[in-house]
Amino acid sequence: MIILGIESSCDETAAALVTGDRQVLAHRLLGQEAAHAPFGGVVPEIAARAHVEALEPLIVAALADAKLTLADVDAVAATAGPGLIGGVMVGLVTGKALAHAAGKPLVAVNHLEGHALSPRLSDSDLEFPYLLLLVSGGHCQLLLVEGVGRYRRLATTIDDAAGEAFDKTAKILGLGFPGGPAVERAAALGNPKAVPLPRPLKGSAEPHFSFAGLKSAVARAAGDYTPEDLAASFQAAVVDCLIDRTTRALGRVHGATALVVAGGVAANGAVRSALQALATAHGLRFVAPPLWLCTDNAAMIAWAGAERFAAGLTDPLDVAARPRWPLDPGAETVRGAGV
Ligand code: ATP
Ligand code: MG
Ligand code: FE
Repeated sequence: MIILGIESSCDETAAALVTGDRQVLAHRLLGQEAAHAPFGGVVPEIAARAHVEALEPLIVAALADAKLTLADVDAVAATAGPGLIGGVMVGLVTGKALAHAAGKPLVAVNHLEGHALSPRLSDSDLEFPYLLLLVSGGHCQLLLVEGVGRYRRLATTIDDAAGEAFDKTAKILGLGFPGGPAVERAAALGNPKAVPLPRPLKGSAEPHFSFAGLKSAVARAAGDYTPEDLAASFQAAVVDCLIDRTTRALGRVHGATALVVAGGVAANGAVRSALQALATAHGLRFVAPPLWLCTDNAAMIAWAGAERFAAGLTDPLDVAARPRWPLDPGAETVRGAGV
C-alpha cells in the first residue's frame, strides 16, 4: 500500500509517499520562515499564497524521488484541519483534485492525528493504547491514544500552547522566528536556575497546562538577565510543567504500553530527556519520533492516511476543510480553550 500525503495547515508545505509497512519512499518540505520572519509570526494570507506556489512542484518532486506516478498510489491523504483555513484549503483541494483525476480514494486527515500517530511510523513496536503528550505550536494536550480515530483527551492548555510559549519567549528575547529551536540553542549557553520563574498549574489536581503567566514573567524579567539565562530558565520551567502534568496524567491511565511525545516541541532535547527519565521511573517504554518527524511534515499525514485507509476509513470528495477540529470531540472545553 502506497499513500501520498499532503500537508499545508500552517507554514510548511509538504508532500510525502509512505507505505503501509512504514517505508518513507519520499518526503519533500518547504518552510516559509523567510516570508513570515519580518512579521514575527505566521501571516495567514502570505502562507496560503505560498502553499499555492509550492505544493504542486513538491508533489511532482516527491513522486519523482520515489520513481512513482499517481497511478501507483493507493490513496491520497491530505490535511483537512485544524489550521489556517486558507492553507488547509489549498492542500485539501489539491488532494481532492489528484484523487479525482487518478480515480483514487481520498483520506481527509486531522493534522493532530498526523502528530498523534507519527510515533507509530518511526517505531513499529508501538502498540495502542499509549499516553501521548502532544506539544506543538497550537496545542498542548495529554491524550490516551486507544486506536486509529480513538483519542481520549485527559488534559489541554487553558491558555497558550507550549510551542506558542517558546515562540513568544523567542520574540521577547529577540531571538527571531521560529522560536523553539532558537530558544533551545540560547538555553544551552545559559543557567536554568538564574531567573526565578513561575510553574503555572504545577501540583494542581487536573493535569491541564498553562503557559501565559510564564511568558509574562519572562517579559517582566527581560532586561535584568542575559537572553541565555532567560532562555535556559524558561525552558527549565516548561520542562518542569510538562513533567508535573504528565506525571499527574500517568496516575490516571492504566494499561498504557508507552509514554509517547509528538509535535514540534517534541524536537526539544531537554523535553525529550526529561520525559525519557519519567517513563523509566514509571517502568514504561518511551517513544519519541526523530526530530524531522516532530515538526510539521507530510510523512506523518501520509502515515495517518495509511492507518485510516487500512481501517477502511476514506472520505467523500466534498469533505470540508475545518479551521478547528478537536481529536476528541467529546472532550469538555476547558475555560474557553479550543481544540
Ligand atoms: P499544531 O500542530 O498545533 O497545529 P504547528 O503545526 O504550527 O501547530 P508544529 O509544527 O507541530 O506546530 O510545531 C511547531 C512548534 O514547535 C513551534 O511553536 C516551534 O517553536 C516549536 N519547536 C520546534 N522545535 C523546537 C525545539 N527544538 N524546542 C522547542 N520548541 C520547538
Ligand atoms: Mg511551522
Ligand atoms: Fe503541527
